[in-house]
Amino acid sequence: MQTISIPDLVHYHVYTGAALPRVTALLGYDYVMAGNGVFLRCENKHLKATFPVAVTAIAGLPDLSTEFTLKIPEVPNHILVEILTDANSDRTREHMYQIKHNGSEYYWDQPRQGGTLARVEYSIDEDKLSDDTNVVIDLHTHPGKAYFSSIDNHDELGFRLYGVLGQTKKAGFNSIVMRLGVYGQYMCIQPTDVFSEGTNLKEVVYGAYTETVKSAL
Ligand SMILES: [Zn+2]
Repeated sequence: MQTISIPDLVHYHVYTGAALPRVTALLGYDYVMAGNGVFLRCENKHLKATFPVAVTAIAGLPDLSTEFTLKIPEVPNHILVEILTDANSDRTREHMYQIKHNGSEYYWDQPRQGGTLARVEYSIDEDKLSDDTNVVIDLHTHPGKAYFSSIDNHDELGFRLYGVLGQTKKAGFNSIVMRLGVYGQYMCIQPTDVFSEGTNLKEVVYGAYTETVKSAL
């Protein structure tokens, strides 16, 4: 049986000010020790990022900056509008969506799921497993305000973007939060880092949902 050693999965670097090498570790991330802490550097076909996982002063080393880059275009407006419309059609339970990119364009679908007002559980059908590397964002709804719950921290252990849409029974959507997850380590990002410039998130998510979606369709 072939064994994989830790050095093959994750690579380790010390930042000296010189350009860091491209992430080549098998899992797609490296740790970098810098003057302002220990950073995680990651890259997959959709994005690359550098963010601190331990903030501390390390004497003698230069500081490293936090960065997030989407390597593919931002998610177009219609994808979010379609998802909001679908979720809004049933406000009695949580919904789970996956926003994917096939190399040329975005599309979205829903894994097989069962949800209550407080929880959504899902599984990926076998015939969709090959599609899994196309997932850019796992997005689900929460009753009330958008936030990442302790259940989400338990569930969201892949390497992709994660988002939560806050949804109230009466008024529809009120908020959105996004983060990058790298096998259980997280970097908070702004929704506008991911959704297209044309998406007025404030109107779509925070505002009078019905009017906004109706006029956008
Ligand atoms: Zn959740």
